[in-house]
Amino acid sequence: MVSMTNPVTCIGTMSLDELIGCPECDLLMRRPLLQAGQKATCPCCGYELCASRHQSIGRSLALVIAALLLYVPANFLPIMHLNLMGRVSHETVWTGILALCQTDMAGLALVVFLCTMVVPLLKLLCQLAVLLTIVTGWLKSCGLWWYRSYHHLKDWGMLEVYLLGLLVSIVKLSGMADLTLDSGLLCFVGLFAVQILLELTMSPEQVWQALSEPA
Ligand SMILES: [Zn+2]
Repeated sequence: MVSMTNPVTCIGTMSLDELIGCPECDLLMRRPLLQAGQKATCPCCGYELCASRHQSIGRSLALVIAALLLYVPANFLPIMHLNLMGRVSHETVWTGILALCQTDMAGLALVVFLCTMVVPLLKLLCQLAVLLTIVTGWLKSCGLWWYRSYHHLKDWGMLEVYLLGLLVSIVKLSGMADLTLDSGLLCFVGLFAVQILLELTMSPEQVWQALSEPA
């Protein structure tokens, strides 16, 4: 880990590419040159400014593909089988959204649909496009647009909120009905875990740098 110790005193003589600002405390510093595996932190507040991760692009690409493969079973395979007084139902994320529509909660159904299905998929597709652009060297100007779009979408994907709600409902329903968990839940948890790993692996600093390099 590299701790920045030399805040810039001659900003006017340096180009923007040589500078880095801390998003937490706004301290402006000289951009560090990192070796693979190193990361730089702000000397003022300790915020991680940037990191150079081993094989970040290749590992991120593998994780994006894994997440896309998990996306369909996570949303369309049964999460649980519910037997309530002889009435058996197989619940998936998609049937949950349809059930909200049928109970006159179309607005809520739309929010759940966007935050748990549409936005996570668009985020993954943007990440895939960015990584393929870097790997192949094609359409780099589009890669910048896709990566900016990914950052705009980032705060709207709420898989963690949905997963938390799902776990709460499982605990509550288990006392009221005969409930059996199914493979959809495993895929959903897997998708969530892969996305967290992806956030940790796909270093924004390395992606911006790779997209900025001439083709
Ligand atoms: Zn700081």
